Amino acid sequence: MLSLDSHTQYLNRLKDNGLKLTPRRQAIIHLFMGSAVHLTPEEVWKKLHQQFEKCGLPSVYRNLESLVECGILARIQLADRKKHYGLCTVGHEHHHHHITCIKCGRVDEISDCPLTNITEINGYQVLNHFLQMSGICSHCLEN
Ligand SMILES: [Zn+2]
Ligand SMILES: [Zn+2]
Ligand SMILES: [Zn+2]
Repeated sequence: MLSLDSHTQYLNRLKDNGLKLTPRRQAIIHLFMGSAVHLTPEEVWKKLHQQFEKCGLPSVYRNLESLVECGILARIQLADRKKHYGLCTVGHEHHHHHITCIKCGRVDEISDCPLTNITEINGYQVLNHFLQMSGICSHCLEN
C-alpha cells in the first residue's frame, strides 16, 4: 500500500494546478491508490456510481483528464484502443514512462529512459517521444 505521504503528494499536485479536491476527485484518487492497476473510464464510473448516484460517465471522463493534466494519473495505451488510466507516482517533474502487466494490469514507472540520448534521427532533431511498454510483472512471473 502507498503511504500517507504519497497521498499528500497527490493533493499538492492538485493544488499546484489550481484544482480543488472535490469528493469525486478524492474518490478517484483513492480508487487508483487502492488497486494500483489501470482502469477504463467505464470501470471507474461503475465503482463511483455506488457512491455518487448522480455521477455520469462524462463527469468521470472530465475528472480523469484533469487528473492527467496535473500528473496524478497517466493515460495508458493498450492494444484494445480503449482509454485506460493508471496512477502516476512520479508526476510531470521527471521524464519517465509506464509499463503495464498484461496478466494483473498493474502499472509501474520506468525512470531510466533509453531514448533520452537520441537527439537526432532520420535528419530530424528529436524534441519529444512517447513510449508505453507492457510485459509480465515479477509477481506474475513467480506464479
Ligand atoms: Zn508516471
Ligand atoms: Zn502482473
Ligand atoms: Zn523517454
